[in-house]
Amino acid sequence: MTAFEEELHAVEKKVSAQLSDGRFQHCLRVSDYARKLAQENGVDENQAALAGLVHDYAKERPAEDFLAAIDRFHLDPDLKNWSRAIWHGVVGAEMIQDELGIDDPAILDAVRLHTTGDGVEMPTLAKIVFMADYLETGRDFPGVKEAREITDKSLDRGVFYQLQHTLSFLAENGNVIYPKTFTSYNDWARHFAE
Ligand code: GDP
Ligand code: FE
Ligand code: FE
Repeated sequence: MTAFEEELHAVEKKVSAQLSDGRFQHCLRVSDYARKLAQENGVDENQAALAGLVHDYAKERPAEDFLAAIDRFHLDPDLKNWSRAIWHGVVGAEMIQDELGIDDPAILDAVRLHTTGDGVEMPTLAKIVFMADYLETGRDFPGVKEAREITDKSLDRGVFYQLQHTLSFLAENGNVIYPKTFTSYNDWARHFAE
């Protein structure tokens, strides 16, 4: 085994200890899909595989853990008004650095941005994890095939597709929408309107 494969294996064990089997399998599939998108987009495959593996590391933590971590890591106190859907990325990145010892800032940023996306300046690795989370082979929502085809042609078009559809879905269901989800959407909408 290469040094990287050994690291990936060690991290897999720690991720699986934190998650239900279903969620862990999702992380493995996101890792594989991120590797594929990295190949297609000239990004380091191993970096993408590791980012995909850890992206939902904190997804099943109790609310108290997140609330304590927001203080401990001096994150924006407004985060306390949100919920696990938002915390597991933004706060989860700090937990991943602290508990898994992953210091690569590009991986930590990709985890931070994986739920809300970001504007057109979003780093390529973050786009890859954002799309791999949406398109991994276990996903089966209406339009997933089209979304995969669009993303194979253009990662940026894929990011916009996901933002557009997630925003509509959240609004249709009457969910509260995190402001960053709107600003991400608006930035890409402006970009593609030009
Ligand atoms: P997952 O962790 O693999 O389930 O995927 P994500 O991290 O992308 O999303 C977590 C959950 O948050 C999903 O149910 C999304 O629909 C939801 N979500 C995404 N954006 C927002 C938002 O702006 N506000 C709220 N409340 N939920 C969101
Ligand atoms: Fe997630
Ligand atoms: Fe996920």
